[in-house]
Amino acid sequence: MTNDKIYFIGNWKMYGDLSSLRNVKNIINLSKSKKYKNAKIIYCPPFTLIERFTEITKKCNVAVGAQDCFKINGTGPYTGEISAKMLKQIKAQYVILGHSERRNLGDTNKIINKKLIYALEENLKVILCIGESIKENKKNLTMKVLKNQLSYCLSNVKNLNKILIAYEPIWSIGTGKIPVNKNLEKLVMLLRKYINKKFKNNNVKILYGGSVNPKNINILKKIKNINGFLIGGASQDHKKFIDIVKKTIT
Ligand code: PEP
Repeated sequence: MTNDKIYFIGNWKMYGDLSSLRNVKNIINLSKSKKYKNAKIIYCPPFTLIERFTEITKKCNVAVGAQDCFKINGTGPYTGEISAKMLKQIKAQYVILGHSERRNLGDTNKIINKKLIYALEENLKVILCIGESIKENKKNLTMKVLKNQLSYCLSNVKNLNKILIAYEPIWSIGTGKIPVNKNLEKLVMLLRKYINKKFKNNNVKILYGGSVNPKNINILKKIKNINGFLIGGASQDHKKFIDIVKKTIT
């Protein structure tokens, strides 16, 4: 891990209901303890729970984000969609964009770029997910795919200060498989180099996501150049989420 704040971002996907909020209190208590002051915890629940989350996390430094926003901002005749402006109104601070599960539902790099520009306009921080498929990985196309995703998704973005990059190999999400640390470290180094050259930013936050759990966190936390984790399945169980934070910050 780097010496900066360590991000623990919980992506609840399409899980969680009002009763799950009870357990979030345990995470809030953890975030208040001095020992974990370096942990930056961000919850990304379904849209329906965001307002409740912002309410219960008001007095602590746990932040709340959404899992997506629409490619057009403001309001309009777009049944079923939620805009970045609407997220801002309910006090979301972050938004995940480009998650592979959203890409599977039709989000292209161009669409993600539109969403990202509007999110930034609304002063939301963006967690931009990038990652390669197993096929691309096997063909050694990983860096090519990631560079392509970054260059399109971040097109016309001048400042990366409000953007966190989450490297999430698709073959790792929800599968229990994780990359070897050495490979991950090298990849993150190459990503930093590319981002520095193309976007003139040598301080971007890069997180790892994909099957992070209490069993593999002791291995993953040894990766020197990452700033934290995007956690799906394990974040929905508060005990596992707490365990991950506690094992990372010892
Ligand atoms: C995710 O949804 O971003 C994710 C990393 O999921 P999981 O931790 O379940 O692999």
